[in-house]
Amino acid sequence: MDTSKKSSRQVSLKRAGVLKTRIDPYLAASAKLPTGMKLKDEIKARQAKIKEVLGASEDDWNDWHWQIENRIVDSDTLAKFITINSKQKQDIDDVAKKFRWAISPYFLSLIEPEGDHYKNPIYLQAVPTGLELVEGIGSPDPMAEEFTNPAPCITRRYPDRLIINVTNQCGMYCRHCQRRRNIGEIDKPQSKENLQAAVDYIKNTPEIRDVLVTGGDPFTLSDEMLDWLLGELDNIPHLEFKRIGTRMPVTLPQRVTPELCEMLKKHHPLFINLQFNSQMEITEETKKSCEMLANAGIPLGNQSVLLRGVNDHPYIMKKICQELLTIRVRPYYIFHAKGVVGTMHFRTSVDIGIEIMEHLRGYTSGLAIPTFIINAPEGRGKTPMLPEYLISQGRDTVTIRTWEGQIIKYPNKDAEVGFE
Ligand SMILES: *Cc1c(COP(=O)(O)O)cnc(C)c1O
Repeated sequence: MDTSKKSSRQVSLKRAGVLKTRIDPYLAASAKLPTGMKLKDEIKARQAKIKEVLGASEDDWNDWHWQIENRIVDSDTLAKFITINSKQKQDIDDVAKKFRWAISPYFLSLIEPEGDHYKNPIYLQAVPTGLELVEGIGSPDPMAEEFTNPAPCITRRYPDRLIINVTNQCGMYCRHCQRRRNIGEIDKPQSKENLQAAVDYIKNTPEIRDVLVTGGDPFTLSDEMLDWLLGELDNIPHLEFKRIGTRMPVTLPQRVTPELCEMLKKHHPLFINLQFNSQMEITEETKKSCEMLANAGIPLGNQSVLLRGVNDHPYIMKKICQELLTIRVRPYYIFHAKGVVGTMHFRTSVDIGIEIMEHLRGYTSGLAIPTFIINAPEGRGKTPMLPEYLISQGRDTVTIRTWEGQIIKYPNKDAEVGFE
């Protein structure tokens, strides 16, 4: 080896050492973070207890209808599985008079029975707390979805794509739900008539090329109903592809059956976006549900909501995004929580979201980096938020900032040579 090679190797080794120091704090924090995978034995033990108390067989447990029918919906039943104090119990009962709640036995098994519930990202997302009843803050519909509804079930806010809301039902009623005004006491799948009217609107609107089927949760519909709707959409020549937004593979992973996957396979091109908000939600079960969907040829994305006390820290969000890739889910969006009444305690500053983005670019795979989005009020659209990497934009030069914070001038010029 000649000396110049030797010294360039030394420079590279030194640089590698510096690079490692860039993620040392994350590695130390990550080692201490509880995750669904690390806790799998505890979760299994809790599941055994839940099955015993509810008198469920293994087949029952794996049956999504059983999971829906046996959702925990009252504080007395909840208290059989996790320790709640009298205030927590009273809060649950008070909230229940105003907002619906329901937790699948599976999702319940992710909650540590003892311990500080207000520090538990699963408890906070699943179990009502008194903070939902704080009055005078938040709006029922900050997005004014009501005024973007040109046909039954449809929300249209963009030129070429729209949403169909197929039901108000979900596998679980998340405490941070941003569509909570639609979640009544009664499950209301849309009538076939309304869905047909939505399909007809799309048929008659040739500029629509992308339809997002959402709710509520579309996976609460039967396979037959979903098959019918996707089939109707397949028949619209100007629709280029379809998407489904669902959280059931996370909250009630038993819903993802071989039959469902066989049916979905017939409707490509089809994309699915999920909602994982915590590394505690990435478990053996959700890994399996995602793998089954991915094996059916469906690209999976994730839309997290930035939630105070759940994932509002750069290292936690990075952990989630990295673990998602290991279960074949590509981080897509992080949403800043809207000002929805009853969910105001989950809100964070915008700063936290930007800080999270700052700690992702460069520090992790580009594939692990979602886009941080503010939904502009009154339905004015998704607006991306980034830390500043473009420091200034001159006529001949731009000034940029690298992920490590170096400020560099870079030419802003067209080619000086070219074909005449
Ligand atoms: C979020 C959303 C979409 C999809 O937006 P993408 O950025 O394309 O993922 C479409 N329509 C409405 C009304 C939406 O809120």
